[in-house]
Amino acid sequence: MGKGIVYLIGAGPGDPELLTLKGKRCLEAADVIVGDYLADHRLLSFANPKAEYIYVGKMCGNHAMKQEDISRLIAEKGKEGKVVARLKGGDPFVFGRGGEEILELKKEGVPYEVVPGVTSAIAAPAYAGIPVTHRKVAASFAVITGHEDPTKKESSIHWEKLAGGVDTLIFLMGVHQAGAIAANLIRYGRSADTPAAFVRWGTRPYQEVYETTLGRAAEDVKEKHIQPPAVFVVGDVVKLREDMRWFDNKPLFGKRVVVTRSRSQASRLTKHLESLGAECIEIPVISIAEPSDHFASLDAGIRKLGEYDWILFTSQNGVDCFFRRLYADGFDARALGHAKIACIGPATDLALRPYGVHADLLPEEYKAEGLLAALEPEVRPGTKIFLPRAKVAREILADGLRAMGANVDVAEAYCTVCEEESRQRLNELLDEGSVDIITLTSSSTVHNLVAMAPDKLDAIRKCMLACIGPITADACREYGLTPGVVSDVYTIDGLTEAIAAAEQ
Ligand code: SAH
Repeated sequence: MGKGIVYLIGAGPGDPELLTLKGKRCLEAADVIVGDYLADHRLLSFANPKAEYIYVGKMCGNHAMKQEDISRLIAEKGKEGKVVARLKGGDPFVFGRGGEEILELKKEGVPYEVVPGVTSAIAAPAYAGIPVTHRKVAASFAVITGHEDPTKKESSIHWEKLAGGVDTLIFLMGVHQAGAIAANLIRYGRSADTPAAFVRWGTRPYQEVYETTLGRAAEDVKEKHIQPPAVFVVGDVVKLREDMRWFDNKPLFGKRVVVTRSRSQASRLTKHLESLGAECIEIPVISIAEPSDHFASLDAGIRKLGEYDWILFTSQNGVDCFFRRLYADGFDARALGHAKIACIGPATDLALRPYGVHADLLPEEYKAEGLLAALEPEVRPGTKIFLPRAKVAREILADGLRAMGANVDVAEAYCTVCEEESRQRLNELLDEGSVDIITLTSSSTVHNLVAMAPDKLDAIRKCMLACIGPITADACREYGLTPGVVSDVYTIDGLTEAIAAAEQ
């Protein structure tokens, strides 16, 4: 049994990339993760999938687990010899009750470390385009609890000093007390016209910002139904948002995108879309499975690789499955012999690089017709061509090459299957009607999407269907679905740009 330790980790305000490197390392090492309401669940992707996850989150006024019980729980897990990652929203010591947990750990003799985090007090305003200090506007700021009972006789907050002595005031947990906060500040001399803002769910793709004034704040909370969690920023710096806004005006901000791809490929598209402000939900509709002929055709081709003049790759999956099998069969890249290699597009070519190989030929148009045209000058009667590809694929390439007199061996390198576990999530999202855009990156993503939600075509129709190219768009039309965007550069970058352009 290892030696137990508890890491009190600041999880940051929401954007997973605002976790510190040290926090990430501790999270990766953890056997047990104890998570909060405000610690973004996306951080769990950094954790060991085998780690135990315990949610102790609380909603305002509705404690899921008492603080004493949480402190006891992490102490117990530490005593069992576990590495515990206690994830706390923002910074653990900024109204995070981190101190209370440490006192319990000390009492029980459990080692601990504190990993500071990016506090929402600063980060939420920053993502709203509000710097907490700014030359000539604000030279000081204070972070204050907004949770104090307004009927309390003796306030522990020095209102008289704060009101006139600090330029920017940042209240946490203050949404429902905004009226009392404003009254106190105004009473001690702060003008009712002082600019103020609520930043709700700051740094997240669904961040909301409400600009107001000190005098109007409480009314705005009521009228606009502003709910926690939000920071309440008071001070002239709020005006700077007009010029400095950068996050919630990105082209895809506020858009919810369902990214349908195979699990291993989704992340690049997601990263691109998120950098444009979108909220991405990855619903892998395709997973790659062993070929249905149990590698018979692929192995046959691999055994006589040296005889081929050309090897054609039409997808990244094709490349990976081919090389994985090549190595499993005991060969390496030398087995490719003198064969030339053609790829359908640059992404497929890039997928070859890790195997020490690059394409000799890329078409101008990244689709089967384009590849066929590019190969035409190369193919003579009797040219031997090997084509490892998906089980279900368009026949146009093989047929076209045969028509030119080539000798084509088609091998099944993989087959695509529907992801069962995605089915439920997809149906929920479509029922909610909360999806704005669905990305479709091959015709099989279209077929599988429809197969996973066959009675939800109307809901799918309400989303903008973003297709990587004309073949994928045609697959949509087969179901009476109208593509909203069709990229003319058939790559992930092309698709991302086309979506951004369409949303502008
Ligand atoms: N330790 C946390 C604060 C915990 S107190 C930190 O350093 O950020 C809880 C309060 O934090 C909430 O009521 C809200 O005021 C604020 N908060 C936390 N995350 C937030 C977010 N993403 N956006 C806006 N406010 C947030």
